[in-house]
Amino acid sequence: MQAKKADALRTEWGDRPCDHPALAKEYAEGKRTGDYVCTQCGAKVSFRERAEILASRRT
Ligand SMILES: [Zn+2]
Repeated sequence: MQAKKADALRTEWGDRPCDHPALAKEYAEGKRTGDYVCTQCGAKVSFRERAEILASRRT
């Protein structure tokens, strides 16, 4: 997902809680940033945070 789109999502989503059901790789100007973004709320999630989210779902 483009970083700009994630920004727009974040603005739209506001302060509502989100458990980040789906994470997409973040791109800026056609390049991977190395981070991920939530496709629902637009939150930026680092590689490490993503691993923690995925691990917490496995239990
Ligand atoms: Zn989210």
